Amino acid sequence: MAKTDPGPLIGAHMSIAGGVFNAVLHAETAGCRCVQLFVKSSNQWRAKPLTDDDIKQFKEERKRTKIGPAVAHSSYLINIATPDKALFEKSREALKVELERCNILGVEYLVFHPGAHVGSGVEAGMKRIADGMNWVLDCVAETDCMLLLETTAGAGSHIGSRFEELREIIDKLEQPERVGVCVDTCHIFSAGYDIRTQAAYKKTMKEFNDILGYPLLKALHFNDSKFDLGTHKDRHEHIGKGFIGKDGFGFFMRDAKLKTVPKLLETPKDPEGKNDKMNLALLRKLAKSK
Ligand SMILES: [Zn+2]
Ligand SMILES: [Zn+2]
Repeated sequence: MAKTDPGPLIGAHMSIAGGVFNAVLHAETAGCRCVQLFVKSSNQWRAKPLTDDDIKQFKEERKRTKIGPAVAHSSYLINIATPDKALFEKSREALKVELERCNILGVEYLVFHPGAHVGSGVEAGMKRIADGMNWVLDCVAETDCMLLLETTAGAGSHIGSRFEELREIIDKLEQPERVGVCVDTCHIFSAGYDIRTQAAYKKTMKEFNDILGYPLLKALHFNDSKFDLGTHKDRHEHIGKGFIGKDGFGFFMRDAKLKTVPKLLETPKDPEGKNDKMNLALLRKLAKSK
C-alpha cells in the first residue's frame, strides 16, 4: 500500500519556554515536519544546564512525532568576527557550549550568524570567524551536529551578505565537511539577491551553486521581507506579504534540488499559533501550484 505523502519539509522556529521538548510539541500542533529552536536563552550568555529529563523528553517527543531535522539557532550575542579579544573568546566559548548542547540533544544543525567585524575590515573578520570555528570544531570533536553559517542582510559591518564571503570562510576551515550554509530568504533579498521572478531565482541560485554549491545548503530560513531589494535591512514579514512576494517562495518550494532541505519560518508569531499555520498552508499550496 502506498504511504501517504508527508508533504513538503517545512517547519518553524518554536519556543522552548517550559523546556526544549516544547518546541517539538508546538511544531506538532502547527503541522510542521521539521523545527528550529534555541538550545539556551538567546539573549543571555548564561546557559542553564540541561537536565536528564530535558534531554529524555526532547528525544522522546522527536521520536514519537518524527519531526526532524531539528535545527538550533545560536544566541544573538555571539560574534566571533569581533576584533575585541575578550568578546571573541566569550563568543567562541558560547558557540562551543551550544554545539555541545546540540550534540547531547541529538540536534542535527546549529545555525549561527558569521558576525560583525566592527570596523576592523572584512578580511580580518573572516579570518577570526574561521579561527573561531576551527577552535569550536576542535573542542567538540565527537558530534554529528553540523555548524551552519547563515547568510546575512549585510547591515552595518556584518559579514556573510555575499556568497563569496561564506566561501572564503569555508576555505579557511580545517574540517569543512562539518560545516554547511543556511540561506535566509529575507537576508539574501535584502542583501541584493533577487528571487522574485523565475529568471531572478535561477540567476541567484546559479550564483549560489557556482560559489558555494547546492550540497552545502543544509537549511533555509523562510521569511518575506519588510524592506525592498538591496536595502540591507533585516525585518521579517509573513510569506507573500512582503517585498519578495509569494512567487519567490514558490520557486524554492518547487526546486527539486531542495526537496530534502528543511525550510523554516521565522515570521511574526501570535499567541495561538495562527500565523504559523497560515504561512505553512500557503507554502503547501505554493509547492503544488505552477
Ligand atoms: Zn539567524
Ligand atoms: Zn533575519
